[in-house]
Amino acid sequence: MSRYVGPSCRLCRREATKLFLKGERCFTEKCAIEKRNYPPGVHVDVRGKFLEYGLRLREKQKVRKIYGLSEKQFKRFFTMAERKAGVTGANFLVLLERRLDNMVFRLGFATSRKEARQIVSHKHILVNGKKVNTPSFLVKEGDVISVKHKDLPNVQNALESVVRRGVPSWIELDKEEMKGTIKLLPTREDITMPIREQLIVEYYSR
Ligand code: SF4
Repeated sequence: MSRYVGPSCRLCRREATKLFLKGERCFTEKCAIEKRNYPPGVHVDVRGKFLEYGLRLREKQKVRKIYGLSEKQFKRFFTMAERKAGVTGANFLVLLERRLDNMVFRLGFATSRKEARQIVSHKHILVNGKKVNTPSFLVKEGDVISVKHKDLPNVQNALESVVRRGVPSWIELDKEEMKGTIKLLPTREDITMPIREQLIVEYYSR
């Protein structure tokens, strides 16, 4: 399935929740969920009550959109989570959090995961001093993520606004040096977004 290239806010309106896809705008009154919290394309709220399948599908779509992945990439991560020991749903979310594009977003080097993916693909990010341009690269404990050229205006602007979002406790940001260290890998408890991962597990187990 190809990547969605339409308006980001439409995705939030479809899921009836803020997915924080547009950086700073998501924190202002211009947010479409603040102004028009009804489904796109129709003028009555047909989100209504979902049957079980619909609930699982919507939760899966919501998380997929938060991380900006195609169906194929999302399923690949789910399969990886299934193969690991422990609880599949929790493993899955932790794997998604460990993606390099997500880390670049979490560290405040980008205002959204979409922008973070672009920065990584354009070879602006180093992991332990080496260039890595794969957004799905999985970081591990102790890894140091840094920006290659410290004068990149996009990164500088993004860092200005990271204060509002905050940096998770499991990573350490050195704003001056534009680098972050993974102190510990995240656990399920560290992921505070309202996600019911069990519904995703049920969706893929059907
Ligand atoms: Fe979603 Fe952000 Fe658009 Fe609000 S501004 S609808 S949170 S993408």
